[in-house]
Amino acid sequence: MTQTDSDPELNVDTKIWNHHPSVPIQIGGIFRNILNPFAVLKGIAFSWFGTYVRGLFLGLIVLLWFTVFPEIEEISRGSGVWIFKVYAINLSLMLGWTGGLHLYFYTLHIQNRFLAYDVKSMQTGSKFTFGDQVWDNMFWSLISSLTIWTAYECGLLWLWSQGAIPKWSWDDGAIWFIALFILIPFWDGLHFYVVHRILHWKWMYKYVHSVHHRNINVGPWSGMSMHPMEGAIYLSVILIHLILPSHPLHIAFHISWYALGPAATHCGFEAVSVAGGKYPRLGDFFHQLHHRFFECNYGNSDVPLDQLSNTFHDGTKAGTRKMLERMKLQRKERE
Ligand SMILES: [Zn+2]
Ligand SMILES: [Zn+2]
Repeated sequence: MTQTDSDPELNVDTKIWNHHPSVPIQIGGIFRNILNPFAVLKGIAFSWFGTYVRGLFLGLIVLLWFTVFPEIEEISRGSGVWIFKVYAINLSLMLGWTGGLHLYFYTLHIQNRFLAYDVKSMQTGSKFTFGDQVWDNMFWSLISSLTIWTAYECGLLWLWSQGAIPKWSWDDGAIWFIALFILIPFWDGLHFYVVHRILHWKWMYKYVHSVHHRNINVGPWSGMSMHPMEGAIYLSVILIHLILPSHPLHIAFHISWYALGPAATHCGFEAVSVAGGKYPRLGDFFHQLHHRFFECNYGNSDVPLDQLSNTFHDGTKAGTRKMLERMKLQRKERE
């Protein structure tokens, strides 16, 4: 399981973790080998079409775009019916994807606790809306985050249809059309790190971000379980399309993936396991550590921002000790 069994400090805390990747975990994605173009290209291709679901999801959005998505002409007319179509698509995606993962892992227990990170499963208690973690998470995801996601998406698509934001199509140039898809995850990583640091400011944490952090162990519905203000801040990632020339497909994919990817990264399991294999990989131990220990791993594992700012927790007991020492020092400096 781990390469460092000989030194207990360099191992994980088995009282907390049922399963874990090799520790210390590696982060930084392509930035680990940024000077090696072959490694960079390989890393980008793997992040879309390896054992992660991002590439498959892009295929799904393209399919929806050419079948059930409202035409740009309909959007530009401004009748408003198209907004309900987008809402229905988003609701179906969230129920199918997030609900499907929950059913698979937590209702039907298809692989029991195999590859589950946390020793504990879903919780109940007064800190949760309706006293139950799953109902709490579904409430905040479906009532708040789904609405904000749809509002941003429809707002951007309407602006695009009116020619109010920079446009780009395949015919304008395939290179930028593809490059923008490739750049989106890096922008996401930077935006998430910055807004997440702000969400951990005292007031913001107490009144806003604590809704998401009710979940110490997480499940698929925890991903978008957020206070409305956090939903608006988190999904503001999409506003990059106000300045970068984009196609509606970029906009639809970007925000849909940003709203649905967290169901995977918060599912609490490393992967779906079929016949002992791990496909597709879903969970994110890096972010699972953030939910367990709060003051570490604010970004995502694609970008090395936590390493640069000394807030990286590598999953080991030594990583926990380092984080606690850093927090003690910060408290002293504030006094
Ligand atoms: Zn989270
Ligand atoms: Zn947080």
